[in-house]
Amino acid sequence: MKEWLLIRIYLSNQNLLSNLWIFFDKICNERPSSINSIIGIIWHVSQQLSKEALIEFIKIALPKLGICCMKQQFGVRLFGQIFFIKLYKLLGEDSDICIEYLSLYKAISESLQCVNYQKNSIQVDENFFYTIFNPIQHYTLETIYHHLPRLSNVSIEEWISKENFKDQIFLNMAVNIKMSNDDNRLDQAIIPYSFQKSSENTKPEEIECSQITTDIQKKIIPWKITLPNDKELTHMDNFSDLKNKIKNKQKMIIVASLVDKSQNLGGIARTCEIFGAKELVISNLKQIEDKAFQTLSVSSDKWLKIIEVKSFLLDKYLMEMKDCDWTLIGAEQTINSVNLINFKFPNQTVLVLGNEKNGIPANILPLLDVCIQIPQFGITRSLNVHVTSAICFWEYIKQHQIQY
Ligand code: SAH
Repeated sequence: MKEWLLIRIYLSNQNLLSNLWIFFDKICNERPSSINSIIGIIWHVSQQLSKEALIEFIKIALPKLGICCMKQQFGVRLFGQIFFIKLYKLLGEDSDICIEYLSLYKAISESLQCVNYQKNSIQVDENFFYTIFNPIQHYTLETIYHHLPRLSNVSIEEWISKENFKDQIFLNMAVNIKMSNDDNRLDQAIIPYSFQKSSENTKPEEIECSQITTDIQKKIIPWKITLPNDKELTHMDNFSDLKNKIKNKQKMIIVASLVDKSQNLGGIARTCEIFGAKELVISNLKQIEDKAFQTLSVSSDKWLKIIEVKSFLLDKYLMEMKDCDWTLIGAEQTINSVNLINFKFPNQTVLVLGNEKNGIPANILPLLDVCIQIPQFGITRSLNVHVTSAICFWEYIKQHQIQY
């Protein structure tokens, strides 16, 4: 997106093109591994320039790319070489610049014949961004919200389907942008190699949902979730003598080290005590004395084991629990979360709750065995964290304690 934006800025303000080279030199010296982004910009800009402007542009570009061809990093060298050849070929053969760079061109062409280079250059040639994609013609909402997320291997839930861009409705926006593309070339594009999770190429129609290896938080759109059917809704009768049926302490530990607000912690403590949690983990024991905590907790903390684990030590604590055969379960809306309706709690459960604002952070999510989410049917994005703990704990109790 950023590369595309820069391409468009340079093309509509060609007087700024001299800045591109300042930018190029800076990146080349300070962050050579990022130079490929600039090379992509150079390539697209060159494709759109008029013949005269192109000659001037390539005059500067070729020696710059020549530097990349000599860089130590394989990726930079490869890109430099591939795009040196591409730019060179844009000029007519008898142009003065071509003659000047002929020997370098020959040397690079030959080096690109080597097997390793050939394999990698095919990946560039198959990358839609350098081939099919046109920064001017494909400047549409369809490209931004459908094709780019799809081709970046973003989860299918995050794309907006193509159907939504069919009608050229009037958009009251400051920028002039079309809804859909005039051609369907991007439909044929496949996910570039660098974004693929497996080494196999996937045709667009075969892509279902990306196989995500690490879990990430999902900002859900509540109205996309379908309602459960009657069977899925669990009966809630026979709970009057629940207390009698809960004989022993549960093997349930609630981890609230990420929870900030004392009101929420007080409420969680009350739920933990009532349902018989083995222990409650919070980040600072001093919070128990807060007035807000006490108001919600109604002294339940006196009958409950509460321990302190600072949030920055949470990962260590969780790994220790894992080693002692506890299953780590996160309550969080992530793209891989299991619906609570279908979830079977293990007997020894450590339930990790997220922060009120930021949820469960990215460094903790991969440590968890699974994340569960409570289905939502309203417009509001998430439940209160205390409510979450109560619903999850209740579900655990139904599975492990109550015999109907
Ligand atoms: N991640 C949320 C904000 C956190 S809500 C967001 O940015 O939208 C605070 C915490 O409550 C979450 O981290 C999670 O532990 C819990 N929570 C809220 N709604 C939930 C749901 N539907 N399913 C599971 N956990 C939920």
